[in-house]
Amino acid sequence: LPTACHDQLKGRTLIVGSTGFIGRFIAEASLNCGRPTYLLARSGSQYPSKAKTIKTLLDRGAIVLHGSINDQDFMEKLLKDYKIEVVISAVGGENILDQVTLIRAIIAVGTVKRFLPSEFGHDIDRADPVEPGLTMYKEKLEVRRLLKESGIPYTYICCNSVAAWPYHDNTHPSEVLPPLDRFQIYGNGTTKAYFVAGADIGKFTLKTIEDKRTINKSVHFRPSCNYLNINELASLWEKKIKRTLPRITISEHDLLSAAKENLIPQSIVASFTHDIFIKGCQINYAVEGPDNVEVSSLYPDIPFKTIDECFDDFVIKLIEHSPPLENAVKVVQNPGVDDGIATSNRLVDVRPITATYA
Ligand code: NDP
Repeated sequence: LPTACHDQLKGRTLIVGSTGFIGRFIAEASLNCGRPTYLLARSGSQYPSKAKTIKTLLDRGAIVLHGSINDQDFMEKLLKDYKIEVVISAVGGENILDQVTLIRAIIAVGTVKRFLPSEFGHDIDRADPVEPGLTMYKEKLEVRRLLKESGIPYTYICCNSVAAWPYHDNTHPSEVLPPLDRFQIYGNGTTKAYFVAGADIGKFTLKTIEDKRTINKSVHFRPSCNYLNINELASLWEKKIKRTLPRITISEHDLLSAAKENLIPQSIVASFTHDIFIKGCQINYAVEGPDNVEVSSLYPDIPFKTIDECFDDFVIKLIEHSPPLENAVKVVQNPGVDDGIATSNRLVDVRPITATYA
């Protein structure tokens, strides 16, 4: 074993997908809690950013194991050898059904106390996106069905949208700055949604895993401080950058056309954007009944990071990352002037987007 204190530690947690967008937040939160954190990483990733993520998590005390959840024998051995008690999966949209083999391994070993499958979006029992998003939800529903049959204690995290500008063609919007040239407003811009900082997705997910009140439940993240429509989001960003930007309307028809193009993953994101900002899939139901619980009712004293604070972070990144620097300075010095700055918004190294959100 890579660490000598392995056997003294309780609550051993295996995180699948920690090189991914959501998985990294979860791995960081697990390490922040001081849990013995095991990361399953597939070998041979060609992206430097992924190797860097693993190195950072390793340096913070994570134990990295190499392999794939597709290999049942390997997974059974891993779960047994490392006495894993909690498994959290954050595999991406294209690998949802890989979890079927993982569930079989968990059933065979019989010692895992909680499994969190890769959900981290909407309540898939209720949301109703058009294709191609629907296919991904059907796969997630198949995982839910198997899990229910298996008797493994589970928790579904329904964390709604990541706190960022909700681009309709980008799966990982918080890796990109909000717009600097114009806003694309979906429909009339009045349908509200819930926005949750990535670190809070990790933090609250970790709270649920040993909480008896979340066994076999969907946990909904509905922070009242982050309940906004896209018009409000645009105004907030304008306040931050001290200038106004033109707003153009992306109609329901535009979003449905983008979904129909069936470009993966952008069309999947378009179908979810339609479901959120046109149909109101995050807000058109009440969190009630024995299988559902709202996270703030479980942990009322733990605050969420506000969207206002998240946008402050984007301003800092804008100033740090915008080449040339004068552009960033101009943004804050010319309030109210639309000077058409089209600064590259991307904050991280570019790599192909392979997964889908919500
Ligand atoms: P990413 O594509 O960013 O990451 C997927 C991770 O899973 C990678 O680390 C990948 O490893 C790993 N992985 C995939 N298949 C396997 C396998 N067979 N064995 C081991 N590891 C594997 O995913 P996302 O973070 O985008 O998505 C995770 C979940 O979060 C999804 O359910 C998605 O729908 C949801 N989501 C929600 C969002 C929201 O706004 N609420 C936004 C984005 C996602 P490798 O590095 O080897 O590729």
